[in-house]
Amino acid sequence: MVEFEVQFGDSVLDASAVVPEDPIPAQAMLPLFRSMSDAFVEFGRQVAEAEGETISCREGCAHCCRQLVPMSALEALEIGDWIAQQPAGEQAALKARFEETARKLAANGLNTDAGYMNGLEQQQLRAYAEQYIAAYVDCPFLRNERCSIYEIRPMACREYLVTSPAENCRRPSPETIRRMPVPARFGAVLPWMPNGRLGEGVVVFPLPGLLDWLARERGRARPPVPGTEIFENAIEKFRQK
Ligand code: SF4
Repeated sequence: MVEFEVQFGDSVLDASAVVPEDPIPAQAMLPLFRSMSDAFVEFGRQVAEAEGETISCREGCAHCCRQLVPMSALEALEIGDWIAQQPAGEQAALKARFEETARKLAANGLNTDAGYMNGLEQQQLRAYAEQYIAAYVDCPFLRNERCSIYEIRPMACREYLVTSPAENCRRPSPETIRRMPVPARFGAVLPWMPNGRLGEGVVVFPLPGLLDWLARERGRARPPVPGTEIFENAIEKFRQK
């Protein structure tokens, strides 16, 4: 059992988690990180509702599935494993949807290359996100306005909730969107630990670059890391944020 603290406004959350001590593939920590993320989101929801706010996000509303979703290496590897387990027909259909998404984004002047976001300055990143919103292109995992990988959807998706009217998410801007505060966002931490450790660079790319990134990374050795070390690295990164 590992105990830790997370700062939230003026409050400090005391929490604990059962963390594997043995070396594991770093993406194997994601189920634990997801359960922590869900707990943080739930805490954020309770605080928002206690302040009279209401979360506008509802099943079937998928405006945010046409926005830029930053993907980390660990999430990409896990989703890649999921794709590899799907029947061949499903994989082919998914590949076609990724190609269609990339075509539509390219037609709107958007680069979805897997290495693209890494090189962007903050201001360029903002402009890229705005251009992406304007293009309003479906995420390749979106089917009938629902996420087809809901259980393993990226942290950026899990941790995005708003208290502003849902229709404002069609053309979101800092003036029209109120994001629900969350004590800690894994979406902001995972890119900094592409192999489970800090100090090994940053990997973040737009979700439609997923298949290209996986193809590029195929065969790369990724030594297992003790779960406790991965966990402490994530907590350390939270503290730095
Ligand atoms: S992964 Fe799922 S939740 Fe995230 S943008 Fe795509 S369809 Fe929406």
